[in-house]
Formats: sequence, structure tokens, C-alpha cells
Amino acid sequence: MARKVHPPVEVRRSPRRRSTVSAYEEQGRVVVMIPDAFSKSEEREWIDHMLERLRRRQARDGRASDTALKARAVRLAKRYYPEHPQCASPVSVRWVDNQHRRWGSCTPDDGTIRLSRRLTMMPSWVIDYVLLHELAHLVHPDHSRPFWDLVARYSKAERARGYLEGVADTEAAA
Ligand SMILES: [Zn+2]
Repeated sequence: MARKVHPPVEVRRSPRRRSTVSAYEEQGRVVVMIPDAFSKSEEREWIDHMLERLRRRQARDGRASDTALKARAVRLAKRYYPEHPQCASPVSVRWVDNQHRRWGSCTPDDGTIRLSRRLTMMPSWVIDYVLLHELAHLVHPDHSRPFWDLVARYSKAERARGYLEGVADTEAAA
């Protein structure tokens, strides 16, 4: 079960490409463009290589660091849940590699929040939604009506949920 976590990958082969490989993020997926002539093992090798490159780039710009994630959570909590000071002082907010089925989780008892590292490849408004969702669990541990009312203060909540469901569907189909 120690499978390496990576975001959904879509490989596009192009007959016009000879030896160049490129990769970019598109709607929560990583699109890797490879020459049509590549073998399956070359394809796998290059996917690993390009994902590693993206990861390094994100680590460099600080997006994938726990410190930046926590600071972001605190900013969001102050803005959206100002009357709930416990949201602005979570004990920890961390990226984790071992969450395959869930995008985020929260343990209200000890004030800890974890986000799947797969989210680092997704648009920031989607990451903000997952953060606000988990932060709201510090007020309501369940998915009750008051919980969703709180989350709905984020205007892109609905859209972000649809986005994540779309990604999950794509993964299930793959
Ligand atoms: Zn939840």
C-alpha cells in the first residue's frame, strides 16, 4: 500500500514530437506530452521525472510547505469565520501523503488538520475550499446543516466540491 502519491496524470502522445517532453497542470491533472515513439517504460520513466520536477518547483515557491499552508488556513479562518477564534489557531495544518480517498481531514479534539498532497497540483481556490471545510469542523465536527451554512460563506464552495468530485470520477475511471 506504499504507493507513491501523485495527482491524476494524463499522457498525450504526439507524432510531431521527436524527443521533447513537457508537462503542465490543467484542472487538477498533470498533462504530460510525450513523443508518439516512446515505449511504455519510457512513458512511465518520464511521468515520474516530470512529476518530480513539478514537485520541486512547488517546493521552491513555497506552495507545498506546511508553514505556508498553516498561514493560509489562519488567514482564511480570520476572514470567513471571525467569530470562531478556534479556527484561527489550529494546532497544526499539514500536507500528508497517505490520504488517497480523502482530500482533507480534521481531528477537532486536538485541533489538527491534514490535506492530501495531491491538492498541491490543484487551483488555489480549490485548496482554499478544502481548508475552509476542515476549519469548519473545528466548530462543527459533523456534516450538519450549521456546518454547511458555515462553509457556504465561501462563494466558491459549491464549485470546488463539483471540481473535486470530477477529479475523483476521473480517477475511478482510470
Ligand atoms: Zn467534512
